[in-house]
Amino acid sequence: MNYATAVHETVAALRAIREQWAELLLAIETPPADVWPPRQLAHTLRADDEQLVVEDRAPLVLREHPAPLNVDALDAGLAIERQVFALADTLAAAVQHAGHGDPRRWDFQHPGAADARGAAGSRAHGLHFACVWVEGRVLDEDTEPEQQLDGTLAVPPFDPLPPHLLHEARRTARLAEGRLLRALGLDQRTTPIPDRPCPWCGGELTLYTAPDEAPRVTCSTGEDCTAPVPLDDDGQRVWGWADLVGLVGALEAAEQRVAV
Ligand SMILES: [Zn+2]
Repeated sequence: MNYATAVHETVAALRAIREQWAELLLAIETPPADVWPPRQLAHTLRADDEQLVVEDRAPLVLREHPAPLNVDALDAGLAIERQVFALADTLAAAVQHAGHGDPRRWDFQHPGAADARGAAGSRAHGLHFACVWVEGRVLDEDTEPEQQLDGTLAVPPFDPLPPHLLHEARRTARLAEGRLLRALGLDQRTTPIPDRPCPWCGGELTLYTAPDEAPRVTCSTGEDCTAPVPLDDDGQRVWGWADLVGLVGALEAAEQRVAV
């Protein structure tokens, strides 16, 4: 693999982790999700006041979890934090010259520190910060000598990342991303939607998800299904991204008719 591709893949994985992290934190605080509706619709379906600002949250490894509602999601979150924090430690040990007090510095843990936040070092800033910091190293940011007030050149805050550490970063970031997507059910999978037949024909609905594409749902009946959506290459009615919210509404309406 060439260097530029490895950089690109690592940055993409780190950004995917940051983008989905709020979903994982919410998943920990809610019972394991049903197959339906798909998590990708969560942003659309969730009320605004439930939005979660990731940067304000203490890292999971520093919090107590008396009664998480979704233990699998918590386990995944803890594992991802440990992997990314350990990666930042490894990179900092190899390439960091930024001095104490420099906001660009990654601080290691100090078990002997007076308070918990000091003991955590940069871990206290959370996973989002750690991902941004690692991304900066992968992109070789702040690796030029900087001019000081007296005109002399100071050692740059960081050395460029050597290839073996870039590959270590890529491996770790992709593992962490995969774990996150699996925990959220956003990895590649095909899932029958239980107890919710097609509102138009009673056929079986199937949800298809994959990391880099929008989810879609098909009806097993074929072209005889009267749902107002196109047919896919297999001749099945298919709800693409734009039609999914409509399907959510139709299924809810069908459930209410049954309940009445
Ligand atoms: Zn149907």
